[in-house]
Amino acid sequence: MAGTRRDFLRSSTAVAGTLTAVTGAASATELEPPAHRGDLPAHTVASNCEMCFWRCGILAEVQDGRVLKVEGNPDHPLTHGRICARGNAGTGLTYDPDRLKFPMLRTGARGEGKFKRVSWDEALDFLATRLREIKQKHGPESVAMFPHGVAATFFRTLMKAYGSPNQAEPAFAQCRGPREVGYALTFGRGLGSPEPVDLDETKLIVLIGSHIGENVFTSQVTQFAGALERGAKLIVVDPRLSTAAAKADWWLPIRPGTDIALLLAWLNVLITEGGYDHDYITRYASGFGKLARHVKEFTPEWAEPITEIPAARIRETAHAMAAAKPAVALHPGRHVTWYGDDSQRARAMALVTALLGAYGRKGGIFLPTPIDTGKIPGPPPPEPEGERADGAGSTYPFASEEQGVTNGLIDATISGKPYPIKGWIVYGQNVLESIPRRQRTLEAIDKLDLMVVVDVLPVEQIRFADLVLPEATYLERYDMPHVVSTAKKPFIAVRFPAAEPLYESKPGWWITKQLARRLDLEAYFPWETPEEHLEMLVKPLDVNVTALRARGAVTFPGRPYLDDRLPGDGPLFPTEDGKIQLYSKFLEEYGFDPMPRYTPVEDPPPGYFRLIYGRAPVHSFARSENNAILDGLMDENEVWLNDEAARNQGLAHGQVVTLENSDGVRSLPIKVRATPGIRPDCAYMVHGFGHRSKKLHLAYDKGASDADLMTRVKIDPLMGGTGMRVNFIRVLTGEEVS
Ligand code: SF4
Repeated sequence: MAGTRRDFLRSSTAVAGTLTAVTGAASATELEPPAHRGDLPAHTVASNCEMCFWRCGILAEVQDGRVLKVEGNPDHPLTHGRICARGNAGTGLTYDPDRLKFPMLRTGARGEGKFKRVSWDEALDFLATRLREIKQKHGPESVAMFPHGVAATFFRTLMKAYGSPNQAEPAFAQCRGPREVGYALTFGRGLGSPEPVDLDETKLIVLIGSHIGENVFTSQVTQFAGALERGAKLIVVDPRLSTAAAKADWWLPIRPGTDIALLLAWLNVLITEGGYDHDYITRYASGFGKLARHVKEFTPEWAEPITEIPAARIRETAHAMAAAKPAVALHPGRHVTWYGDDSQRARAMALVTALLGAYGRKGGIFLPTPIDTGKIPGPPPPEPEGERADGAGSTYPFASEEQGVTNGLIDATISGKPYPIKGWIVYGQNVLESIPRRQRTLEAIDKLDLMVVVDVLPVEQIRFADLVLPEATYLERYDMPHVVSTAKKPFIAVRFPAAEPLYESKPGWWITKQLARRLDLEAYFPWETPEEHLEMLVKPLDVNVTALRARGAVTFPGRPYLDDRLPGDGPLFPTEDGKIQLYSKFLEEYGFDPMPRYTPVEDPPPGYFRLIYGRAPVHSFARSENNAILDGLMDENEVWLNDEAARNQGLAHGQVVTLENSDGVRSLPIKVRATPGIRPDCAYMVHGFGHRSKKLHLAYDKGASDADLMTRVKIDPLMGGTGMRVNFIRVLTGEEVS
């Protein structure tokens, strides 16, 4: 980052691990020897999983054109042969009888769910015609895209070529965005995915609302378990006794929404008691004096009544961190859009990491090693002329231009400002489940002339589409290679189809190329086959493509620590002054607090609980509940209530209830799990259940949807993220429900 905010916008997600994001010094390739096996048998295909976005290496065993089973790929550099229950259940997605089978055009009213089957030619001709019409009448910027996943990468290129600057994915404004912004403001670069937390070397892990063990990513959970086995200590800050909290040396059941107060108190103790890494801060950071003055008043005694964590406990945990420094892995979290002050909370976490000297050091947060991939020849995408509609860079000055602000696009579609949005292309994401305030999303859809959904399953949003395009599953398609700069040894992993696409489904790259041809944009896709595409990308790296395909991945030497860096790697901290920004001039310039500050949160009204939510190890978001194998493991969610609070309301463990939020919106029925393992002011449920699409025969009507109940959000003014833990619910039983 050269120091301008424009550079910041581009760089804040620049280590996200996609090909478009990778820049920087090239490395000599280093093909790992096949550690566990020789050449693959003919019927086995090396690929990577997409049951969630960790993309573990897999081996798909195929017989008579059908994938029989999926196993872990022992040669994969990150996951070393491990996959989770969802990864094992990949065949349950590919062979789900409810899959979308052919292209469909809407025939009834929007939302009625009436469609007719059409051919791919008809579907693509229809789409190309409508896109041309909208462009002619309203300009290319009036088509917005909601992409997700690597398959959408081809379509993203197409939309840029078409001329639209409007693309946004929930991975930013509903998930990881705040942490990318908070860490980029502090260290000059975001974190990327997988997040580079050095669990292998750490002495102390700190989790703040991060549910490792429930949120399963194979390599991370293995490293986490390995660290604990090695004797690493664990601090867990969570209003709920999560799986991780149950293993913690210190569980801090914090009052929700007050994490910044705790972090400020930790900063206070580290500075006032001299527990910080003096040499590291002197060498690498600027603004220490200002930070020290800022946190002086935020003592543990100040934080105690706010957080409801005893001051002595706050001190004790700060001392534990100081003793373990720099090998302290303060995990930055993943889904972190909670209270609307999330970027500042991430900043506070980054500041604790900085004071401990744990950024770029063993056992803390390690550094990415970028890989230079090849560029696909062809014209550069046109620079969009109009301003973006989602507010990235304007309303939300620190939002990522690469990932966009989904809710900003929804707002613009409703208001018609700064200009009308007439078309949506939804690719691989579920806008009704992943973006809160469903009513607003439906209001926006109502304004559209065109809504296209590209998906594998008939999730509820399909009902509102004008055109539905069935995509092949990840076991049936080639995708953009997975380029990971945030591993200690960076790597490229490939996904090639293990089986032919079922029914009339097609891979994303094929759909995109066919549409590009119809829009006269083929020049942006100057390759015919996936093999050609891959060759172009890895050309500068001198990679043996045959070996890459056989093993599934190729690694490069990494330089994960500050002491490893080479001059060609660029500045250690690509910030304004080349130092860690304990005090942020960018934030000051834009009228924000240059150092984090705690702002009080609203408490639940009497009789209500704060709704918090999380993951289950056997499901991914709202994507896997219709999978027969996973449905067999967990077919509904429960609402966790504190046992005493439940008793006080006359509720019993296992009782079926309905939840109603403070705006009167009700959930589907859900069972109570009464437990001492949650604070009395909170209600918790696993996200993803309560599907309303009758075409999902297994998932329909099972459990309750937290998304249904999220009618309120608190927007992060820095980057547009939707804080979602600001909804309150009460529990209705019997006659109260009717
Ligand atoms: S963690 Fe599980 S679901 Fe996610 S990519 Fe790995 S195997 Fe697949």
